[in-house]
Amino acid sequence: MVSEKRLAINFEKMSTITAPGQGITRIAFSDEDWQARNFIIELMKEAGLAIRIDHFGNVIGRLEGTDPKAKVVMLGSHIDSVPNGGNFDGVVGVLGAIEAINCINEANFVNVHPIEVVVFMSEESSRFGVATLGSKAMCGEMDVHTLKKLVDKKGHSLYNTLKLRGLDADKIDEAVYPHELKAFMELHIEQGKVLEATNTQLGIVTGIAAPTRMKVIINGQADHSGATPMNMRQDALCAAAEIILQVEKLAKSSEEFPVVGTTGIIHAHPGVMNVVPGTVELGIDIRSIYMETKIKVVKAVMAKIKTITENRNLTADITTLTNETPVRLKDEVINFLDDICKEKNYSHMQMPSGAGHDAMHWAHTTPTGMIFIPCKNGISHNPAEHAEMKDIVAGTEVLYTAICKLASKE
Ligand SMILES: [Zn+2]
Repeated sequence: MVSEKRLAINFEKMSTITAPGQGITRIAFSDEDWQARNFIIELMKEAGLAIRIDHFGNVIGRLEGTDPKAKVVMLGSHIDSVPNGGNFDGVVGVLGAIEAINCINEANFVNVHPIEVVVFMSEESSRFGVATLGSKAMCGEMDVHTLKKLVDKKGHSLYNTLKLRGLDADKIDEAVYPHELKAFMELHIEQGKVLEATNTQLGIVTGIAAPTRMKVIINGQADHSGATPMNMRQDALCAAAEIILQVEKLAKSSEEFPVVGTTGIIHAHPGVMNVVPGTVELGIDIRSIYMETKIKVVKAVMAKIKTITENRNLTADITTLTNETPVRLKDEVINFLDDICKEKNYSHMQMPSGAGHDAMHWAHTTPTGMIFIPCKNGISHNPAEHAEMKDIVAGTEVLYTAICKLASKE
């Protein structure tokens, strides 16, 4: 049985491993991250897992199966955080996975398939500007050139950062996971408010959205705000205002599948009260778990930017910064987790994940499942991030049941 007490003790301990300041600050490969990683390694050893470390520093704890050659059932998440983040993002998936192993041990469950618990390093993009780096290394999406190219704000390359931690960055190719998996499972906080608002205890993820991000520069004319009549202006900020509302409207009006659209960056120049804004930079992020639907909205936004700026006698330069492919999780895995929730009598719903996760890299090659638990007010990446212990227990219970079924004989 899942032990709430054991989980609570481990969350409490993790909450003390942070750099000074509000909330949790465990930046990838920092001393705090390393200290938390060492604590998790100890927990894994206590749970009877055999530890190995790959060349990116990912920690893999293995519970051998009665058939060591059978496909591995993998579960895991991350323990690094954003600056001033919370103690649940990622941590729920790691501590939940270790607790599931403890349950297996206590139930004397005999697993045919080996089970591996993984701590993926550097999941957050806070330090090197790119997310889920540890998963990328394990899934063959990383090379030495990229390690050298990724540099943090202090000028330290990821390559040198790995070397300083005693890892052999030159052998990054060998970090690629060499075998086909039976399944990959990740427990995570929702990082949104849907579960809480609908009073639902667990979410079963149907797909993981991926963003298209655009930088838009609107070029107008900076003029004197007193001396320029209204009909003689080329106000870039007024055009930006129309564009921002169109991003909202077009995302909202997607009829096929849900799309979210956000204009999160706006810089107006010169940014003074007595000058008509001559240039505006916008940062637009559009996401969906359906690529075709997302592209439709992106194209519609681009067309609107063109007509809005032309009507105002302005020009716009649009740069696509990223255009990633969303991941759809397989129906068989969704139904499998749905059945477990029913069996255990947990209220649950199927839902997309708006945020990226380690799981998305495995979904291309492996039957992959994600279980969400609610977080208070939907807040994440913030010191106020909070998940209720009863929900963590419920999520862990589903994870435990899932891996027992997956690791049994076919
Ligand atoms: Zn996370």
